[in-house]
Amino acid sequence: MTKFIIITGGVLSGLGKGIVTSSLGMLLKSHGFKVTAIKVDPYLNCDAGTMNPFEHGEVFVLKDGTEVDLDLGNYERFLNIELCGDDNITTGKVYRSVIEKERAGEYLGKTVQIIPHITDEINRRIWKVADDTDPDVVLVEMGGTVGDIESSPFLEASRQLHMEVGDDNLMFIHTTLVPVMEVVGEQKTKPTQHSVKALRTIGIEPDVIVGRSKVELEASTKRKISLFCDVPQDAVISSPNADNIYRVPFILHEEGLTEYVMEKLKLEKENGFDQYMKEWEEFTDNFENPTSELTVALVGKYCELEDAYVSHVEALNHCRSATRTDINIEFLESGDLGDKDAVDKLLGDVDGVLIPGGFGTRGIEGKINAVNYSRTNKIPILTICLGFQVSVIEYARNVLGYENANSSEFDHKTDHPVIDLLPMQRGIDKMGGTMRLGAEKVFVEKGTKAYEIYGSEEIQERHRHRYEVNLEYKDEFEEKGMVFSGKSSNKKRMEILEVVDHPFFMGSQFHPEFKSRPLKPAPLFLAFVQAMIDRRDS
Ligand code: GLN
Repeated sequence: MTKFIIITGGVLSGLGKGIVTSSLGMLLKSHGFKVTAIKVDPYLNCDAGTMNPFEHGEVFVLKDGTEVDLDLGNYERFLNIELCGDDNITTGKVYRSVIEKERAGEYLGKTVQIIPHITDEINRRIWKVADDTDPDVVLVEMGGTVGDIESSPFLEASRQLHMEVGDDNLMFIHTTLVPVMEVVGEQKTKPTQHSVKALRTIGIEPDVIVGRSKVELEASTKRKISLFCDVPQDAVISSPNADNIYRVPFILHEEGLTEYVMEKLKLEKENGFDQYMKEWEEFTDNFENPTSELTVALVGKYCELEDAYVSHVEALNHCRSATRTDINIEFLESGDLGDKDAVDKLLGDVDGVLIPGGFGTRGIEGKINAVNYSRTNKIPILTICLGFQVSVIEYARNVLGYENANSSEFDHKTDHPVIDLLPMQRGIDKMGGTMRLGAEKVFVEKGTKAYEIYGSEEIQERHRHRYEVNLEYKDEFEEKGMVFSGKSSNKKRMEILEVVDHPFFMGSQFHPEFKSRPLKPAPLFLAFVQAMIDRRDS
């Protein structure tokens, strides 16, 4: 029998519920259980693909091409698994299916209602994940905060699921904020009491309360929460702010969370941690004890919100541990790199430049300037998706001599559209889920740097784009030293580029950051970091 753990959030959003969910998953995996995770997003969007990164952070892309909330990236990283679109349930998806069924006449004349039709559809989707992947444990993280209008059908559905499977097979973990009053330093439990009360009014009794706070919960705070919220004292788990998110599983484990959950759900197996935990511990120790440091500039266009680049940051974190190097990331808004003086000043002291993906014209010239600076000063540079396209434009302008070269995304009248719309994108007029999305095979040319890095002629990486290198210019680029060392299976899509006369100038049309894992950093990122180390030490 599959066990379900429902993780809810109280008081406010942004508590790190996703990290609690991922960490618990990691702990159960380390005890030998097969774990998967579902993220419930109560918004009306069908998926996260159309969401502005300023508002919602990074859009993470799954293997099957579903565009999802960044929490699924954390589940993949902590659990070292690959999820699929079914693992993200949104209000948009649920209502769409119910409305389609209603239009198809499947409800046989019934009045279609939130209870039972929407709630049934929510639980059908949760059961589908359990049936398709046959895990020991399914973690279901409820996005939003208890009390939100839009999350109530999901909470009602999980109350019904609890009735259906019983106490031994489903438990609720409620994550809340325990604020500390600045002046007196007192930990306040009232917000937790209120959010548990709100849960109760919808018929949910939390089994465990995770108190997120600046510091550890004091024994008296735990006692108070236990008393007022009617949970045993050892089910009140302290989760203080941690400098390193990869340390959180250990913190929760020491608080007794794994033991409590295993006992409650009668999960019997294994004696203690397995190999995965040992390797995780080593990863975390190396992460926390770097022996040297370097600085990388991330030249982006959504830098106001660091969450917009979370998978890039994590990929660098994975390399930090692997190389025992403290990697300081300077988030530079590409709009600030408009002229030579600014570029010299902002990039003068960095060890490397990372240019991530993005959409639209704003900030493009600044990115081009950053590429030019790195190329001409022979500073290691890694460019991804939009970054990759921008490095092609820079090369076309300054090496091939096509002054006005551009992408037709930014200038559809350019004489030299070195980046142009993918043929499959022509005629598409809808925005949601219509890009070239998800994992595709990439063929790597032997004898190139890319081959040295990947050590294989065939790899798989995830994509999210509408534009690509215009094949008409390919030979010219290659004659002038920009080599396309990775291509799609039909050889028509350029996937990896490298500049021959440069210590490390590499770009990828795909997103290597999505597949980076703590115990297995993305090869392109690791090679980039190694190149920065080599340059610094030379
Ligand atoms: N805007 C570019 C395209 O659609 C790059 C996309 C991206 O960086 N994800 O092709």
